[in-house]
Amino acid sequence: MTVAVTLLVFAVVHSISHFVNLWNFSRGYDDSLIEINLARYKNESPLLLLLSQVGLTGVTMLVIIICMGLTSMRSVRRRLYNAFWYTHQLYLLFLALLIVHPLSGVLKEEIINDEASQNPSQSDDTLLANNTSNHKFTSIKSMTWAWMAFPLSCFFVDLIWRIFSRNRTKVTVKDVSHMPGRTMALSLSCHDEFRCRMGQYVLLQCLDISLLEWHPFTVVRLPTSSHGDFVIWIRVKGDWTETLENILLRRESDQISILVDGPFSSPMEDASHAALSLCVAAGVGITPFVSLLHHLFTNPRSKLPGRIHLIWIVRYEEEITWLADLANKTITQLRNANRPDRLHLEIYVTNTSKIEPNVVSDKQQINVTHTVVINEKGRLCHTIRKGDKITNDDEKAMLLTPNVKRHEFNDKKYSNNRLELNDYNIAKEYPLLGCRVKRGRPHWDKVFGYWVHLYPQQNLNVYSCGPKKLVKTLRNKCKYVSRTTRNSFTLIHEGFS
Ligand SMILES: Cc1cc2nc3c(=O)[nH]c(=O)nc-3n(C[C@H](O)[C@H](O)[C@H](O)COP(=O)(O)OP(=O)(O)OC[C@H]3O[C@@H](n4cnc5c(N)ncnc54)[C@H](O)[C@@H]3O)c2cc1C
Repeated sequence: MTVAVTLLVFAVVHSISHFVNLWNFSRGYDDSLIEINLARYKNESPLLLLLSQVGLTGVTMLVIIICMGLTSMRSVRRRLYNAFWYTHQLYLLFLALLIVHPLSGVLKEEIINDEASQNPSQSDDTLLANNTSNHKFTSIKSMTWAWMAFPLSCFFVDLIWRIFSRNRTKVTVKDVSHMPGRTMALSLSCHDEFRCRMGQYVLLQCLDISLLEWHPFTVVRLPTSSHGDFVIWIRVKGDWTETLENILLRRESDQISILVDGPFSSPMEDASHAALSLCVAAGVGITPFVSLLHHLFTNPRSKLPGRIHLIWIVRYEEEITWLADLANKTITQLRNANRPDRLHLEIYVTNTSKIEPNVVSDKQQINVTHTVVINEKGRLCHTIRKGDKITNDDEKAMLLTPNVKRHEFNDKKYSNNRLELNDYNIAKEYPLLGCRVKRGRPHWDKVFGYWVHLYPQQNLNVYSCGPKKLVKTLRNKCKYVSRTTRNSFTLIHEGFS
């Protein structure tokens, strides 16, 4: 970001200086030294001067860099991610223009004929008369290429290396399950051997949606030697994920072309090697820690990761079902292995109101074309397209798609279903989890106070994956607690947007 902002600021300052200079070129046209003029005549419009090669390339570069800067702003990037991505692909054109820009030879250097000026036999008058013929102006040869050669070679070597070393493989969709909160669990199978570590993510491309877009998703269940499939969880957030959901609902899995690239490293990987990990996740940000739970479940007596404090903040209680089964089994397994202290799990449900649990805020508005109806177990019953009437079979089904406008379906049964949904109580089905579920947001002073009390004078890492606000709060808390106690807290976070 520092490099980007520096580039943007200097590009703007540089361009403003040139615009002022164009004005000077136009007003200060010099008849005696025609070759140093950019203008063809006095007071030629500076706008016409912009139409020169140097002007056009300069303006194009300025437009590109401003577009990149504007679309990089968080508020724009969150809403128009594709605009951000595509404008950044203009970097190749920018680099080409950067080389062409100084080639027009507008910058001149003065060459003085030393022999003539140093001839002692010449009188002062002759010297003055020959003044103009003694020196001449020539275009400065552009050395931009020399400045760019080394960094560009490094960049292209890296690019070529990345292209050829990319592990793009076609995967088969083995299973899709729709979970509450409009999230899908995709079980993918790789034809080639696919290895991945806890916390790592892959890039996914669906050829039926876009040939250019690659989207990152964390692997929640790693492939093993006996079981080659891996699982990712995808929350429907925008156009790409929604189209994918649509395709997965309409087509057979063998008709969907999905490519996977990776795996790639993530800062969350460290949590699996540490003797003590304090993990905080919000919503789908739990994904980097799910493979950790799997590991604890399958290896309850393993040395690393040592102890995990996992705080998971969800908006609705139903979202706990994503992890309920695994968390329940892991807690039981650790108890059986006499290592119950390895996992400290706390789940916070922030939405305590009983109305409209599935409505997303205006900021998250997406064009809903269909509704996914799933039952209490998180299994897909069926989908209802816009304008469809709801049948009696839906009576027991729960509507878990966000952003549904009730009047669109014109059926009172929905309100009953919503009541059923609001009455959902995780403790009934998973008593081991029920006692770990709290209402409202975590009280961070208490949480940090507890950690300080448990691990006095230690250096602790807090791994966090969630929205920016949560990360900001945790960063401030880490700084504050490190200042005021003998503990040192370091925040390591992964952002999903
Ligand atoms: C390392 C990493 C791991 C992730 N793991 C998961 C996961 O396990 N499960 C999950 O549901 N989501 C995960 N995400 C987020 C996921 O990639 C985006 O939600 C998804 O790409 C949204 O695409 P869209 O076109 O549907 O939404 P858009 O409307 O285009 O964007 C919705 C939000 O996602 C962000 N986004 C969009 N495309 C990308 C992209 N290519 N890279 C990064 N952010 C993007 C945007 O900034 C925006 O905030 C992860 C992101 C990163 C960076």
